Amino acid sequence: MAKKTVKDLNVSGKRVIVRVDFNVPIKDGVIKDDNRIVQALPTINYLVDEGAKVILLSHLGKVDHKDPEKTASDKKKNNMAPVAARLAELVKVPVKFVDETRGAELEKAVSEMKNSEIVVLQNTRYEKGESKNDPELSKYWASLGDLFVTDAFGSVHRAHSSTVGIAEILPSALGFLVEKEVTMLSKAVHNPERPFVAILGGAKVSDKINVIENLLNTADKVIIGGGMAYTFLKAQGKEIGTSLCEDDKIEMAKDFLSKASDKLVLPVDFRVAKEFSEECDNYIADENSIPSDYMGLDIGPKSVELFKNALQGAKTVVWNGPMGVFEMKTYAVGTIEVCKAISSLPGAYTVIGGGDSARAAIENGFQDDFSHISTGGGASLEFMEGKELPGIAVIQEK
Ligand code: ADP
Ligand code: MG
Repeated sequence: MAKKTVKDLNVSGKRVIVRVDFNVPIKDGVIKDDNRIVQALPTINYLVDEGAKVILLSHLGKVDHKDPEKTASDKKKNNMAPVAARLAELVKVPVKFVDETRGAELEKAVSEMKNSEIVVLQNTRYEKGESKNDPELSKYWASLGDLFVTDAFGSVHRAHSSTVGIAEILPSALGFLVEKEVTMLSKAVHNPERPFVAILGGAKVSDKINVIENLLNTADKVIIGGGMAYTFLKAQGKEIGTSLCEDDKIEMAKDFLSKASDKLVLPVDFRVAKEFSEECDNYIADENSIPSDYMGLDIGPKSVELFKNALQGAKTVVWNGPMGVFEMKTYAVGTIEVCKAISSLPGAYTVIGGGDSARAAIENGFQDDFSHISTGGGASLEFMEGKELPGIAVIQEK
């Protein structure tokens, strides 16, 4: 079964509520990167061209609802007004910003909309009930529209009023961005051409247990790098010095090692350092010679070769989590080498899921070298865990 997409809806003259991801970085009212607004344009422009009345909802940052002072400063910081202004520059029709999430002004603005016009609401998180999927709030927002379209992939793993609540009430469909993410990620995670190799890294085992578990079931090989590798090394009884380690996950790592030793590929050498810094003494140590007062901050060249071999012939590759502390140049080498290795595989379908891995690839110039780089950090992680994402599950089937 497949979900309805925006093309399956008859939108002409209808009020269409679109949940977009306008959660852009803003500093002192200035947008630092408008990519998320740009990514939402195909769906918005389609609806405008089809003569819909387009009502846009998004969250922006976080809003505390416990301490009134904090609430006020969060609201000031995370005001949607500059986003609406930027959107107005990118589309060819009028954009009206309503500085409200409910009330008379909003209702008037919506009732006065003509076909092909756009209304942007204030930040959904101004509402305390948003993150709780408050039924009363969902019902109110749903009353403003006839149809609902979800195009905020970065938010579909959250069951909030604007992502799930409205969709439970109104006829619904996927927007183009979410449709693309679902298609591209499904192709790798649900229906991979084999051999299927997963590369997992990042900071913590505890963040990735479900991903490891799911991919150990579905992939032919699972390569482990990054900070989480050291918990596995310790589970093998190796000295890991002061490297990142989660002692309460050692048993679990042992379990993975005994159940799937044929699938798991662990690094065999590391760039170790005296401190969490680039300025201190650092060098390559092999797996049996990490000094007790050093920490592993990147994988070493032998590991890169080992991983390249494990990747050879792969037809599907999923990558989540950097191989080292890529934010520091000295420890970015492993991540960059893995990027190169994946992107030069002939005829392979290659996907990056995970906010930091995507950032590492894009910052190092690999943005065009993968089949797909997911735009949703948390959402793509949950997708790789094999979970059903509530903001997609709720959308009507064709
Ligand atoms: P993603 O966002 O792609 O899912 P994570 O958030 O799980 O990735 O992990 C990214 C973080 O992991 C980065 O900030 C990186 O510095 C950190 N990291 C990677 N390797 C190590 C390591 N050996 N020691 C400490 N931190 C590490
Ligand atoms: Mg991250």
